[in-house]
Amino acid sequence: MANIIESLSVRSFDREHLDVFWKFGQMTDPAAYAITVERSTNQLSDYAQLGPASVGLSYFRDTNIKTTRGFYHHYYYRLKIRDRRSGDTVYFPEAGGVTLEAPPDLVSLELARQRRVLLEAVEGRKVWLFQRRRDGARCRNCWDAVLNKRTKSVCTTCYGVGIMGGFHAPVETVMKIRSPPDTTSQTELAKVTTENTTFLYHNFPDIGAGDLIVDPENSRWTVGEQIVKTQRNRVVIDQKGPLTRLPTTDILFKVPLILSVEQLRDLQTEPRVLYVMPHNLQAYAESAYEAIYNV
Ligand SMILES: [Zn+2]
Repeated sequence: MANIIESLSVRSFDREHLDVFWKFGQMTDPAAYAITVERSTNQLSDYAQLGPASVGLSYFRDTNIKTTRGFYHHYYYRLKIRDRRSGDTVYFPEAGGVTLEAPPDLVSLELARQRRVLLEAVEGRKVWLFQRRRDGARCRNCWDAVLNKRTKSVCTTCYGVGIMGGFHAPVETVMKIRSPPDTTSQTELAKVTTENTTFLYHNFPDIGAGDLIVDPENSRWTVGEQIVKTQRNRVVIDQKGPLTRLPTTDILFKVPLILSVEQLRDLQTEPRVLYVMPHNLQAYAESAYEAIYNV
């Protein structure tokens, strides 16, 4: 079922609604497919059905949106496409969803790709990204509907986020976390060590303040407020921002990261190239020496 849909886009100049448009492939008979629009506030998970689109129509208006929302609150859309005859179902796009953003041009795509390759091949290390839930049912364990606030400071149902589950399922990815200087300060009760540093990350998925990062040594970090998204023609190339290391007593250490025994045993945390291509000063010196005589 290739190329049933050619493109999907979101547009609106009205904050009360978002319009979702799609284009059928040239060889597609629109009447042969039942299309349902699905929406989520997370790019990768939790898609819920909005409603079926009329037969042959390639447009859907979503009026059920929050009119006031933060910069990091996005609505992602995807299409569920069911073949009326065979009953087969596919999604467009296959992974993730489309939101109101600039369509990437070829140069932006290439810049973003180079950043990702650099992180995957040389600079980055494996991390697990837990995106903070920004939307959904309030936590039943700690949220007081009358007071409209959280009433427990330690809650293992939402980990202090206030929304059921607290975080989305983790995404395994690569990130560069700069080695921070740590500072220890003596308070009246105990010594407190703090580590503040910065991260460098590629463009997908979108990182927001309050997200949780777990590195292979189970150091846990939260993303701070001031995230810099390098953009070209409004297309995100990479993301940088502040990280704060959590003390091991923090409730976020209870967020489960479940790997199988095989996954743990075979965990490759560094880019492979650093192990198969040794770099040493001797080799560098010899190549530099040769270079002089090759002029
Ligand atoms: Zn809670």
